[in-house]
Amino acid sequence: MTTLTEEMRACPVCEARFAVTAVSSCGSHGADSDFRPHFWGMDPTENYVHSCVECGFSGYGQDFLDGCSETVIRKIRKFLSPRTRDLQRVNAPFFRYEFMALIYEWEDRPSLEVGDSFLKASWVARSRSNREKERLYQREAVRRFEEALEIGECEEQETRAVVSYLVGDLHRRLNRRRRAETWFHRARDEFELLGPPAEENLAWLGDQIRRQLEAPADLID
Ligand SMILES: [Zn+2]
Repeated sequence: MTTLTEEMRACPVCEARFAVTAVSSCGSHGADSDFRPHFWGMDPTENYVHSCVECGFSGYGQDFLDGCSETVIRKIRKFLSPRTRDLQRVNAPFFRYEFMALIYEWEDRPSLEVGDSFLKASWVARSRSNREKERLYQREAVRRFEEALEIGECEEQETRAVVSYLVGDLHRRLNRRRRAETWFHRARDEFELLGPPAEENLAWLGDQIRRQLEAPADLID
């Protein structure tokens, strides 16, 4: 079951202090086909990332402690501070993930990390039934994941297989059928390059790739 707790955050950009609702525990069973977990009880995803409504800084708990460089602070003030009203919209917690993804990009973090932030933004948009934002974030995520594969960020064979599958599934969700198929085939090739024990540990992925090629579904069985 999901349990939440109150924590304090200190903004590393404008020094505002504020209370947030953070995740204290949760558990999941199964997932959507793009790895969005199904939780026992309430979906806590939106409560992992928090934003400063004064300036727009957004991130995980650790990001608030790590702070950011002067260059990034200037970009936050220029591009996010004018948009803080978005953060106060009750039905739109996905903006926190969007802001974090942009900050990660300005920090030149790996494309995988930026892509993951946009992917989670799309999960939150889905949980809030905002189809337009979900699709926007899926497009941003898939672009970063393709880039990560292209520039050799995915060093492990397992990562290449998983990320190729995810690229396929995001294209499928965006109704780009041909591109989805191409990527599922590529994921299958990457999967076949896995040796033991990864091959066995990731057997579910092999099954899932096959399923999405034969009879695509929105859930992982
Ligand atoms: Zn702030």
